[in-house]
Amino acid sequence: MAFHSVREKHAKALQFIEEVTRDADSVQRKVLAEILTQNAETEYLKRFQLDGATDRDTFKSKVPVVTYEDLRPDIQRIANGDRSPIFSSRPISDSGTSAGERKLMPTIHEDTDRRNLLRSLVMPLMNQYMPDLDKGKALYFLFIKAETKTPGGLVARPVSTSYYTSEQFLNKPFDPYSVYTSPKQAILCTDSFQSMYSQMLCGLIMRHQVLRVGAIFASGLLRAIRFLQHNYQQLAHDISTGTLNPKITDPSIKQCMAEILKPDPELADFITQQCSEQNSERIITRIWPNTKYIDVIVTGSMAQYIPTLDYYSGGLPLVSTMYASSECFFGPNLKPICSPSDVSYTILPNMGYFEFLPLDDVDNTVSTDLVDLAHVEVGKCYELVVTTYAGLCRYRVGDILRVTGFHNSAPQFGFVKRKNVVLSIDMEKTDEEDLQKAIENASIILKEFNASVVDYTSFADVSSLPGHYVIYWELLVKEPSNRRPTSEALNRCCLAMEESLNATYRQARVADKSFGALEIRVVKNGTFEELMDFAISRGASINQYKVSRCVSSDPIMKLLDSKVISVHFSPTTPHWTAE
Ligand code: AMP
Repeated sequence: MAFHSVREKHAKALQFIEEVTRDADSVQRKVLAEILTQNAETEYLKRFQLDGATDRDTFKSKVPVVTYEDLRPDIQRIANGDRSPIFSSRPISDSGTSAGERKLMPTIHEDTDRRNLLRSLVMPLMNQYMPDLDKGKALYFLFIKAETKTPGGLVARPVSTSYYTSEQFLNKPFDPYSVYTSPKQAILCTDSFQSMYSQMLCGLIMRHQVLRVGAIFASGLLRAIRFLQHNYQQLAHDISTGTLNPKITDPSIKQCMAEILKPDPELADFITQQCSEQNSERIITRIWPNTKYIDVIVTGSMAQYIPTLDYYSGGLPLVSTMYASSECFFGPNLKPICSPSDVSYTILPNMGYFEFLPLDDVDNTVSTDLVDLAHVEVGKCYELVVTTYAGLCRYRVGDILRVTGFHNSAPQFGFVKRKNVVLSIDMEKTDEEDLQKAIENASIILKEFNASVVDYTSFADVSSLPGHYVIYWELLVKEPSNRRPTSEALNRCCLAMEESLNATYRQARVADKSFGALEIRVVKNGTFEELMDFAISRGASINQYKVSRCVSSDPIMKLLDSKVISVHFSPTTPHWTAE
């Protein structure tokens, strides 16, 4: 692509952001009318007798706010093969799966264009703050998951897989701002070891050309660094000899690596020396010395990884470029080079129709009157509700956002948290309900000792890699009982908890090996009482006090750890099979 045309493309992208945010309210009105007109004949909208109305007032008065659970039966019909227009008048091209909870989400062909539009804004925005990104390559660890079919024959795959396997990604015209070190063959390999190995190998070989290092989420990049630490000897061997690890059996990877891999003993020695050091401080910048920034999302549940990324990168800028979900893509971060705590995303009013459920400081809904995009107030928190072209109407995404300001008339949001999430290490989301179910499953084992779990809390321990779940248990051994639960039984309890956690958790644990064994720390009797005393001494109401199922505060964790009487781990991995 000629230099001037790239410049023009970037200028157009920035101009587009200005235009679409200038009168957010009228763009929103248009989007809603478009969606309602397009989907007027769908079964879902007909249920609410809109009778062709496309205005906001009618829509809001007739169509209810819903959650995924409300839509599940209809989505299941689509998955089972019902091709009648249920949500959308357009054919459902595939169904995205939301990585966290494995939700099926109907997708229409035009969604791809809207998502790509948002993606196309990222580099023009970066280029404003970081020069010369066209003078080298990006080392991005990108992975796909094997596609599955729904019972009715639709393709089901994560939204990122849809993109990395799409024409738009694979056959993009050359753009000097989007040159990756990873060959397509490596990205397209569904075997995660072979894919990671070959992407890392290319990243090492091209180390001097690498200007940015990233993955979609922070956890993905940390996984890659851990992979390097575990596999550097073999990687160095391959580089030294110019031969490929025999574990790489994918023919297309073998073929493309044959062209890239040449014997380079000097580079191999360098890698060995850098990775064999105990100290991994600045490992990213030592190996990729020209890295200008780290491109990973570090907002929301990913914020826990910031200290580790800072340590590995020597404090390079951590850039969270955009906010998106399987249901709908929302918008970019217009000031990508800001500190992670200041990241705001500008929801682009053309991506869907957005409404906001007002919340108070402790996540209680303060009003059931939803606020429009252009009318949210700075400083306030809201739960995001979307209406999409694919036919989701007034759908609660489950994210809580805080308004930080406006760009023209479009509001900007800080990501506060995912509603109800208790534990999250990577893409999995384990909420209170999941945790409770897991505890109940494990408690069955305790019955043989006439014991039960009195109380529990948890945290995702990411201080060492791989991260793992830690659950604090207080046990009650009821009389008559011959003995306390044995250590062996408590180990089994760890596994029983893991068995009942969701498929994303078990896949990460079994197939990806990115989580360590779940740990139960049994604490002395009376510990949770002390915890409550502690909370009350700090102002909590006795009536309203609830044990937090997930702890993060230092003094509370210290208190808990000082009461631990035994520690247990899953003896093996839970069951997981690719669906
Ligand atoms: P999924 O549908 O599985 O792709 O997950 C989408 C969810 O990931 C969103 O609803 C958010 O909870 C989270 N997410 C996506 N982008 C961001 C971001 N930039 N910052 C924080 N959380 C994000």
